[in-house]
Amino acid sequence: MALTDHLANRASEIAEWRQDIHANPELLFDVHRTAGFVAERLEAFGCDEVVTGIGRTGVVGLIHGRNGAVGRTIGLRADMDALPIAETTGVPWASKVRGKMHACGHDGHTAMLLGAARELCDERNFNGTVAVIFQPAEEGGAGGRVMVEDGLMERFSIDQVFGMHNLPGLPVGQFGMRTGAIMASADYPEIEILGKGGHAAMPHTTADPMVAAAQMIVSLQTVVSRSTDPLEANVVSITKLTADSSAFNVIPERVTLGGTVRTLSPKVRDETEANVRRVVEGVAAAHGVGVTFRYRRGYPVTVNNASAVRTAIAAARKVAGDDEVITDHPPMMGAEDFAYMLEAQPGAYIFVGNGNSAGLHSPNYDFNDDAIPHGVRYWVALAETALNENL
Ligand SMILES: [Zn+2]
Ligand SMILES: [Zn+2]
Repeated sequence: MALTDHLANRASEIAEWRQDIHANPELLFDVHRTAGFVAERLEAFGCDEVVTGIGRTGVVGLIHGRNGAVGRTIGLRADMDALPIAETTGVPWASKVRGKMHACGHDGHTAMLLGAARELCDERNFNGTVAVIFQPAEEGGAGGRVMVEDGLMERFSIDQVFGMHNLPGLPVGQFGMRTGAIMASADYPEIEILGKGGHAAMPHTTADPMVAAAQMIVSLQTVVSRSTDPLEANVVSITKLTADSSAFNVIPERVTLGGTVRTLSPKVRDETEANVRRVVEGVAAAHGVGVTFRYRRGYPVTVNNASAVRTAIAAARKVAGDDEVITDHPPMMGAEDFAYMLEAQPGAYIFVGNGNSAGLHSPNYDFNDDAIPHGVRYWVALAETALNENL
């Protein structure tokens, strides 16, 4: 497409933005520098409107098409926040902030959407409006939900919304997507087992929470293996075990367990919560110990809309060719707060290849700047495809 040579020249500048953001990582909603960096550039590109402070530190830029503020509006979303991880990459643009780093590539997502915003401001080869959305707090803070609750969709009349995440292991230049669930729900059981402590040589005088905890961990494996349809995806991982006492000869009063549950459907999600509770309370009763069961619901399932996925496939094929677009990419059991935006309006979340980089959330991860032109071209083609298809 006509953008190719032109964008090749601009890609190195976009990589400089990416590296600048990488060197200055910020966590959760505390993304003031990054949001400022974004807003300043959106103004300079000539966005018709730039709104800051939506969803606390989110930024939205509006770009009207060739006919001005008429027609539909689509949202393109990037996330801006980093992670509390100490970087070990040793790259020249490594984090300048100890204990914080862009280990999920949100620096790349932000830079690519900025690059696309500049192209869209320059070309305006669409009818309607593009809202470029830069959100805080994807990593556990539900910034996407906070932006939706702050009126993101109504305020800008967004009727379709699109997201993109880099994927290590997927070759640079390739795209992956699927209709339906693409990322999992993430929930967090927390179990407090209350026994009766005492001398370890006289266990019959106690109610041992250790044995109950061990039995509970083993029995919880049956939630997936015996209580879930084998054709459905489900993960129950107990990841934390804490006992009150560390003495060799004391049976403790209390043991706490924690973990995470991942599913790809709201139905399995509800059933799994009920099954985990049943096993926990049943095992506690069998062992004569008390139990407090808390179950915190995190991000919902990220569900792609079929029609929006068709638009995403058409756009990706325009920039990458048919062979580089995987239209039935397997879902992943990680979670993503773009799910909240997709609960508010239909849309599609896709993967863009990051090549053979270290994995996401690894201290040795770095976003692959070679992916930048592919991601920028996809966003531009997507806007043009989504907003021109009804001409
Ligand atoms: Zn992440
Ligand atoms: Zn991420």
